[in-house]
Amino acid sequence: MGVKQILLLGNEKLYERSEIVKESELEFIQSTVQDLHDTMMNFRKQYGKGRAIAAPQIGVMKRLLYFSVDNSMVMINPEVTFKSREIFEIWDDCMCFPDLLVKVNRNLSCKVKFRDLNWAEKEIFLEKDMSELFQHEFDHLEGVLAVSKAVDVHSFSLVSERTAH
Ligand SMILES: [Zn+2]
Repeated sequence: MGVKQILLLGNEKLYERSEIVKESELEFIQSTVQDLHDTMMNFRKQYGKGRAIAAPQIGVMKRLLYFSVDNSMVMINPEVTFKSREIFEIWDDCMCFPDLLVKVNRNLSCKVKFRDLNWAEKEIFLEKDMSELFQHEFDHLEGVLAVSKAVDVHSFSLVSERTAH
């Protein structure tokens, strides 16, 4: 348990697909969740942002996501069961490239099936902020970064360029 190093853009591991979690790994997953929490809180202290983190971002190549928005939530082996046809455009950020923003399209809403830390199966409907956040984190499990989903060649900006004006 503790603060781990977040892999940064350019690290090849970020482009790998993560493995399905088995029920027998729950103890390891529990301690990884603590690491994800500690690492994200440390990032927040430094950058004043960070709402969710995927296990591969700290080099644990397992299908595990940790969210801390209003409440905290753990998703093990998430699967998308529905995606809305409506999409919206946002300037996305990522803890793997804290100074960069990338314009991407995300589905306005989606439905997700996953397991929780008690291995209970859950399904939830996510909209807007939570929908785009989930899609960003889910992409990490597939080895896909926001930079690979840029809308066009003008879709990259340093954070300072978009907040200083
Ligand atoms: Zn990210």
